[in-house]
Amino acid sequence: MGTGWAAVAISAGAAWMAEALRGGDKQLGGYVGTDCLFCKVVSGEVPSEKVFETEKVLAFRDINPQAPTHVLVVPKRHVGSAAELGTEHADELVDIFEVCNVVARQEGVDSSGYRIVTNVGRNAGQSVFHLHFHLLGGRPMTWPPG
Ligand code: AMP
Ligand code: ZN
Repeated sequence: MGTGWAAVAISAGAAWMAEALRGGDKQLGGYVGTDCLFCKVVSGEVPSEKVFETEKVLAFRDINPQAPTHVLVVPKRHVGSAAELGTEHADELVDIFEVCNVVARQEGVDSSGYRIVTNVGRNAGQSVFHLHFHLLGGRPMTWPPG
């Protein structure tokens, strides 16, 4: 019976892993794959107004802009928030900030200035649990933020 239970536990673990690799698993801080809004934007299932794209990163316009320029820059691979970042995301982070520089120039806000912000969790107002950096510009920004 002991080995039977062990076999059940191992196969349950294997099933979880297979599900996670397939991209349909719910993880801490968000959903991977099918249930994640920005994964759907990345795949094209949800339409977006693309601003710029690299192999690892997509930039698209925010649907509810808070400034004349309001672009979201996201890794194509699912990451729930900045709290889940590790050294394995180093390449994507470099790309993200390079894309921010390109977008700022493309939008004509590079010399006037702009803000890059990412919300983490409830108190910060994170509403989509796929890491995204807001690039806001085209108007003066106040500080501290609300
Ligand atoms: P946050 O509240 O920091 O998680 O930011 C989520 C952002 O995603 C908000 O600014 C929303 O306006 C934006 N948003 C939600 N759905 C879409 C969508 N389908 N396309 C573009 N932006 C979206
Ligand atoms: Zn996602």
